Amino acid sequence: MNMGKNLTKSIPLIAGNWKMNMLSAGAKQLAGAVVKGAERLHSEIVLCPPSPLLGEVRTCLEHSKVALGAQDCHFQNEGAFTGDTSPALLKDIGCTYTIVGHSERRAYHQEDDTLIAKKAAAAHAVGLSTILCIGETEKERSDGKTLHVIASQLEKAIPASTTVKNCVLAYEPVWAIGTGKVAGIADIAEVHAFIAAKLPRLSGIRILYGGSVKAANAKEILATPHVNGVLVGGASLKAEEFLGIAEAAE
Ligand code: PEP
Repeated sequence: MNMGKNLTKSIPLIAGNWKMNMLSAGAKQLAGAVVKGAERLHSEIVLCPPSPLLGEVRTCLEHSKVALGAQDCHFQNEGAFTGDTSPALLKDIGCTYTIVGHSERRAYHQEDDTLIAKKAAAAHAVGLSTILCIGETEKERSDGKTLHVIASQLEKAIPASTTVKNCVLAYEPVWAIGTGKVAGIADIAEVHAFIAAKLPRLSGIRILYGGSVKAANAKEILATPHVNGVLVGGASLKAEEFLGIAEAAE
C-alpha cells in the first residue's frame, strides 16, 4: 500500500458516487464487478448508488468488503418530508456511510453549511458515517478566496458530533467536478494540509480528494500528503476504471 508520502497511516477510502445514474440491471452488474475486483484490494471501498437502488446494491454487497453509502439524507428521522430519506432508514437498510454537502446538493437544492451540519449530526446520531464535502467554486479560486471559503465551510458545516471515526471530509473543488479538470497536485496538497491544520480536535481525520479522478491520475493524487482517499463520480460508473483507481491506492 502506497502511504510513503502520506502523513497519516489511515486506510485509504475509495468512494464511488453514482449520482443519478444507473438502472437496476446495470447497478447489479457494476456492484457485482466491484465486489469481485475488491477482493484483492486493501483499501476501504464504498458505493453510493441512487436511493431507490440501495436495497438492490446492498444485496450484491452482502458478505463482501464493499460498503454501502447514500448520496444524501434528511436531518429528521421521520415526518412529512416528501421525497426525502431519513438517516434512520439509511442505517436500517444497510448503509454505513452517507455523503452530505455535495456541491450538486449545494448548487441545485440550495443547501448551506448550517443545513449540512444538521444532516451530518442526524447521520452521526443513528450511527452512520458521513462523507462531508467542501470545496470552492472557480470564481472563488480565481479571486484568491479558496482557503477563506474552506475555513468557513469547516467552521459551519462540521457538527460537534463529528469524530475521526464517524466522518471523512472530501475536498472537491467545484470547478473540477465532472469537468475533466483536475486540481494541480500542489493545490491539492495546499488545501489538504490547510484542512488538517484547521482541525486539531479531529487530528487524523481522513480527507479525500474529489474532482475528475480517474485511473490514470489516481496514483499521483493518492500519493499527495494528507490525501487519504478519493471520492469518484463519473469514473465510478465503469468497474474497470473504478477498480483501477482503487488499485492505485495499493
Ligand atoms: C463527485 O461527484 O463527487 C465527483 C468528484 O465527480 P467526478 O469524479 O465526475 O468529477
